[in-house]
Amino acid sequence: MREGSLEAPTRHPLNWEDAEFYKEKPLHEEMERVFDICHGCRRCVNLCTAFPTLFDLIDESATMEVDGVAKEDYSKVVDKCYLCDMCYMSKCPYVPPHEWNVDFPHLMLRAKAQKFKNGQTKFRDKLLSSTDALGKLSAIPVVVQTINAVNTNKVTRSIMDKTLGIHKDRKLPKYAGKTFRSSMPIVSVGSSQDGQRTPGKVAVFVTCYVNYNEPNIGEDLFKVLEHNQVMAVAVQKEACCGMPKLELGDLEAVKNLKEKNIPQMVKYAQEGYAIMTSVPSCTLMFKQELPLLFPDDEDVQLVAKAMFDPFEYFVMRDRDGLLNTDFKESLGQVSYHVPCHLRVQNIGLKTKEMLERVPGTTVNKVERCSGHDGTWGVKKEYFADSMKIGRPVFRQMHEEAPKYISSDCAIAATHIVQGMEEKHDLSDVKKRHPITLLRIAYGL
Ligand code: SF4
Ligand code: SF4
Repeated sequence: MREGSLEAPTRHPLNWEDAEFYKEKPLHEEMERVFDICHGCRRCVNLCTAFPTLFDLIDESATMEVDGVAKEDYSKVVDKCYLCDMCYMSKCPYVPPHEWNVDFPHLMLRAKAQKFKNGQTKFRDKLLSSTDALGKLSAIPVVVQTINAVNTNKVTRSIMDKTLGIHKDRKLPKYAGKTFRSSMPIVSVGSSQDGQRTPGKVAVFVTCYVNYNEPNIGEDLFKVLEHNQVMAVAVQKEACCGMPKLELGDLEAVKNLKEKNIPQMVKYAQEGYAIMTSVPSCTLMFKQELPLLFPDDEDVQLVAKAMFDPFEYFVMRDRDGLLNTDFKESLGQVSYHVPCHLRVQNIGLKTKEMLERVPGTTVNKVERCSGHDGTWGVKKEYFADSMKIGRPVFRQMHEEAPKYISSDCAIAATHIVQGMEEKHDLSDVKKRHPITLLRIAYGL
């Protein structure tokens, strides 16, 4: 038998609508099989806290093998996995087509789905994953001030810590009050010139985060597209992409959201639009996760093919000779974090490449997991782990005295700043999304 696969990794669709998927015995058998392979391999020990948890359980068991670990303890490993996909995409030599067929994240997802189906998911986790519902609530004037005040007040945070299990020290993103959709014209006019690699028109899936928390990122994306003569529209009537529900294992909710979004988006794909989001997790959901959950849904596959990460689009637009490279302002020293959900898209370091096209700009790239994930690092029991995983990132981001701190994942950027502030004075450093940096560079 070969040690690792020499072929490109492939991923099998998830048979999540099959009753077998939710049966405890076959799940435990598959976990035992995969855990045993991981025990003999241990390459992923420093990726996250799921693997150290597994290896500690094995090493402290009576047999010091997987058969010595109680099945009830398997959930301790599952709960530490936030489905970043890095073990699958960056480390594992035994992923399909290798005959051992190890897909650790999808195995964890199956266990989460079983937990959800059995009604064992906490109220807090359901609440945190309802990004659209929370966002709609925050869009009501007065309510937004109340939510933001509650989220920053020590007394109420202490109550939230005790009653909801939301860690009192986790800095929560602010709600903007005025949503992107309510304050922005949703069409920008351009010449729509197609390139060899890039369509000249773009449909932007706005995302819950941009709509409710940082609408400026959406405005900046539209400004940059318009400046490049690209016609851009916002996808109408979108719902959450479903990633938070996927991470919870609530796959029926993922299906419901898919049925709201895909009919809206497929029209753009059929008309030759590029579709993009400025949140890597949402892009990944449409590019990779939904196609694996719904392999027979042609509309899902069509949307997946039309998806672009914004910087993937800009770099390819540049190669098409259609990008405006008349930059007006240098960015200086940028500390740039590459989020896991961007790395696993396998498109290379397009954000870095683009930012380095701006004269007078140096990018210090940090390519490690920051440890936050969408909601994982917010939870009381994982906050300390999330700060521990992020520590090397906080340190590396501070090296080279940055003028800007940036990450394609705006939530990760907030977490990174929180971690850096524990040791450093950041009063001269600005946190900006890479799209915003591009707008600054254009002088817009
Ligand atoms: S998917 Fe990410 S969090 Fe989960 S086990 Fe793999 S590396 Fe760890
Ligand atoms: S997921 Fe793959 S690389 Fe990671 S420990 Fe398990 S077998 Fe090894």
